Amino acid sequence: MPVGVDVGGTAVKFGRVADGGVAARTRRPAPHDYAGLLDAIRDGIVELGGPDGAAVGVAVPGVVAPDRRRVLDAPNLPFLAGRPLAADLERALGTAVVLENDATAAAQGELWLGGGRGHRDFLLATLGTGVGGGLVLAGRPWRGPGGMAGEFGHLPVGHGRPCRCGAIGCLEAIASAAAMERLGREELGESLPLPELAARARADDQAARRVFAVAGRALGEAFAQVALLLDLRVLLVGGGGAPVLDLLAPHALERLGERAFGRTPDDFVLAPAELGNDAGLAGAALLAAGVNGEARG
Ligand SMILES: [Zn+2]
Repeated sequence: MPVGVDVGGTAVKFGRVADGGVAARTRRPAPHDYAGLLDAIRDGIVELGGPDGAAVGVAVPGVVAPDRRRVLDAPNLPFLAGRPLAADLERALGTAVVLENDATAAAQGELWLGGGRGHRDFLLATLGTGVGGGLVLAGRPWRGPGGMAGEFGHLPVGHGRPCRCGAIGCLEAIASAAAMERLGREELGESLPLPELAARARADDQAARRVFAVAGRALGEAFAQVALLLDLRVLLVGGGGAPVLDLLAPHALERLGERAFGRTPDDFVLAPAELGNDAGLAGAALLAAGVNGEARG
């Protein structure tokens, strides 16, 4: 059974995929250097019973080279940049290893085991510290020739706030979970975590409701641009944004209806992602196992 690894900024998560789900899991704290990461991945996989000849897929928060053997750039884990991670892990584990961008892996996981089942074309947007995007087109993950497709968080949505990427007006700067908490601070005058902000909005606090109206319309604007270009109809929302999608969706759908001409809000599906923290490792495991025929031969 394939093993998936999801390398994140705070933890490295592991899972073994069997019988249409994640059958066993473990995790390790995020290491601070490359040697520590190799050790952590080997130890985590051994804890799950060793690779035992099964393929291993590793989701990483960065740009993966087109041959999926090397990480080109990883802003949150700089020690990964340029490293031949697949080859080094193959030496350590004695089995084939495939790398995948974490957002693309999560989209693949949702396609096979989660909210993407039954949809051949969709975008998975993860609203967390930033906004990530994973694209599935015609039933396959779409990476683009440089491996950088799906940067949904940096589409411009028409506000004046600066983004971490250096541009002004990105979706991420107004609709990430962190940005919604910042908006909440501005509207309510106190710092509330997103779930608490959502509870206030559901209790009809008008200031809290404005936060989700602003972020929801921004989400709808960005998805309208995707719909105009690709005619995508399905948007899955993951990360901290998934539990508050009920508050965002009416505003996002309203904006979609205004912008995506020829289509009405009823033509779109906005649904929460279903796999939560398992999406990345499940997708990486399935890609490594060649589930869609794309794994390295
Ligand atoms: Zn940006």
